[in-house]
Formats: sequence, structure tokens, C-alpha cells
Amino acid sequence: MIYDVIIVGAGASGLFLGANLKGKKVAILEKNSSAGKKILASGGGRCNITNRFVSAKNYLCEQKIVEQILKVLTPDQILKFFSELKFSEQKQNQFFCDSGAKSVLNLLLKRQNADIFYNKEVTSAKKVDEIFEILTKDEKFRAKNLVIASGGLSYKSLGASDIGYKIAGEFGLELSPISPALVSFSVQKDEFWFKELSGVSLRADVEISDKNDNHKFSDNVLFTHRGISGPAILNASLFWQKGRIYINFLPRFSEKNLINGKKQLSSVLPLPKRFVLEFLRNFGLKDKAFYEFSDDEKRTIKRLLAYEFAPAGTFGFERAEVTKGGVKTEFLDENLQCKSIKGLYFIGEVLDITGMLGGYNLHLAFASALKVAKYLR
Ligand SMILES: Cc1cc2nc3c(=O)[nH]c(=O)nc-3n(C[C@H](O)[C@H](O)[C@H](O)COP(=O)(O)OP(=O)(O)OC[C@H]3O[C@@H](n4cnc5c(N)ncnc54)[C@H](O)[C@@H]3O)c2cc1C
Repeated sequence: MIYDVIIVGAGASGLFLGANLKGKKVAILEKNSSAGKKILASGGGRCNITNRFVSAKNYLCEQKIVEQILKVLTPDQILKFFSELKFSEQKQNQFFCDSGAKSVLNLLLKRQNADIFYNKEVTSAKKVDEIFEILTKDEKFRAKNLVIASGGLSYKSLGASDIGYKIAGEFGLELSPISPALVSFSVQKDEFWFKELSGVSLRADVEISDKNDNHKFSDNVLFTHRGISGPAILNASLFWQKGRIYINFLPRFSEKNLINGKKQLSSVLPLPKRFVLEFLRNFGLKDKAFYEFSDDEKRTIKRLLAYEFAPAGTFGFERAEVTKGGVKTEFLDENLQCKSIKGLYFIGEVLDITGMLGGYNLHLAFASALKVAKYLR
């Protein structure tokens, strides 16, 4: 049997493609014994499916291709596709599913026009006389078109593998360097005091520079028993290259209020008391009014406005929400078809397109799938 389309991976992009291809013989080959494990884990189990404001600016990639991809699917169209479910707009214009990620996955499965084969780990693919031969550990599948929707390396426990990169390499496509992103940082000795604050969350400005630019994220940071996390930190990790980051723990606080204050620092600063006391303890300071500190001590306290440190590292692919880098889009045409191999497509996270936190990665997975579906229809 020769399929019209074989899709590698029953994740967000593969399932959306399977649901949008009509009148074709389509198979999805999935390594796991069930589909969409990452969808189930997304948005803390509530699946942040899209964002009211999606634009190319929300992605690290070649901007032109992402603009073309985003044109085929607006946030409203995603909500319309899932209109049987209720979504609430929260935080930074993010849409979360009221009935949870499981109902998102169930709807994608209900809408399938593809046969899904589980426990089929694809190991390689080649093209022989216009037909793709796709090998799994125990079977060979054949198809006229092959779509790689196998995701990146993030969260191995949910089924991630490097097969997409391997197949790209076998067909002569290049990859841009891959690294874990949207991931928490571990800390060096000087910041071990963060660990004492496990569970504390506060609003801050996090700034990071890469060789091109300066990036600032105003959002929550969360202290954990192993380091520092939270939306502002996860977004900063997209740009981190073993350098320093800066946190303003007092983004809306004027220094004037410090100087005039007669009260103890922990009562003056708009920060959780536990945080202020731990900060002072770490630097060997007592909780007293600002004017009572020496000039040196005042300088230490002012570090709260621009706390500079070098993280020890990230928590790696095991804990990263996405993989930065991937199949270079310059090897693909505007329909995400490989320029040199007709019938070979790449969609979703396997591409060198990485979204920020906020529903942008699922949006991209769906939009890139629809781009290919429209072309193959
Ligand atoms: C914990 C967590 C929370 C997240 N939350 C959000 C969120 O709320 N909003 C958001 O926009 N993004 C979120 N993301 C990111 C988002 O889930 C991914 O970007 C998106 O799922 C990528 O879709 P994909 O189809 O490219 O890959 P995946 O969803 O990863 O699907 C790839 C599929 O391919 C299968 N596969 C891999 N190798 C093989 C092989 N060799 N043979 C056969 N099958 C294979 C995998 O088992 C998997 O089912 C989150 C990610 C994580 C890890």
C-alpha cells in the first residue's frame, strides 16, 4: 500500500495536519503508545493554545517565512477549530482551555482523517523512484509525501527524539545549532540564597543581551529549590548564551522612597518580606531603615534594582519546553516543502522557528501544519 501522505509524529503539528487533510490516504506514525503527550503537559495541563496577539516578532527565526506561515491561521481561527471547547483569555493574552489539555487532544483525535499507528518509532527514511520508504523498527511504510512532525529534543520523557534532524541530514538539509529553551536556570554559589526562597514568586524586569540585541522581559520570576524560573526567566533563556543576566526586583519602585523611608527595609520595599529578609541575610545585613546602612551597604541594597549574575546553566532538554534551532528554513519553500526533495515537508518544532512563552509554539505547530495541508489538498 502506498499512502498519499505519511506524517512522522502524532504531536500538535502532526495531529492538526491529520485533521486538515481531506480525501487522502494519510497515516501518522507515532513512537509512543498514545498521541499528543506534550499537548497533555502543555500550559500546566491547561494547554495555552494560542495568543490574541501573534506576530512574527514573537518568534526567533527568519522573519519572512514565519510571516507566511502565520498568514494561514489567525488566533480566532484556532479558537474556531476548537469551538466545541471553552477557552479563557488570561495573563498576557494567552488562551487556556477551561476543560484542560486532555479535551484539546481528544478533539484533535476526533477530527482525524488519518490512521494513527502507535509504537512505530521511525528510524530512517529514503526516497526511491518518487516514493518515500519510511522504516520503523519492525515495518516499512511507503508514501508519495512525507511530513516530518516529530518535534525537537525537549522533554525526552514525553517522546522526543532526534529523528527529524536525522532525516533532514539524510536528505542534505542543514540544521542551525540546537539548544534547550524556555527553560529554568540553575545558579552558582553566589546565588544559592535563591534556593532558600523556593516557592516565592514576584514581578521583575529581566534583561539579557545577546550579540544582536538587548532583551527585556517584565513578568514573574519564581524561585525554586534548584534555581530560578517563571515566565520572565523562561523567555530570557531563549537568548542566553552562557553570559550574565540582570534582574530588577523593584521595577516600579522609585529610589526616592528608599532614601526618605524611616521604616525597616522589609516594610518599605514592595517585595515579599521573606525575599527581603533572605537577601539581607545573604549579604550579612540587618533589617533596618535605609538611612541606617553604611554607603557600602546601601550599594548592596541598590543591587535589587539591577541584580547581575551569571547562571550556572539551564536545566537542559530534560526540562526545556522547546528546542531552539533546528531545520534551516532556507532549505524549504513557502509551503515548507524541501526545495531539493519534492514531497518532503517539515512542520512544528523541528523547524528553526522558536516561539516565546505564551501560546506561540502551539500556534506555530498548528499554522505550519495548515500551511502544508492547504498545499497538499
Ligand atoms: C511541559 C511543556 C509545556 C508546554 N506548554 C506549552 C503551552 O502551553 N503553549 C504552547 O504554545 N507551547 C507549549 N509547549 C511547547 C509545545 O508543546 C511544542 O512546541 C509543540 O507541542 C510542538 O509540536 P510538534 O508537533 O512540533 O512536536 P510534539 O508535540 O513534540 O510532537 C512530536 C511527536 O513526534 C513523536 N516522535 C518523536 N520521534 C519519533 C519517531 N522517531 N518516530 C515516530 N514518532 C516520533 C513524539 O512522540 C511526539 O508525539 C510546551 C512544551 C512542554 C514540554
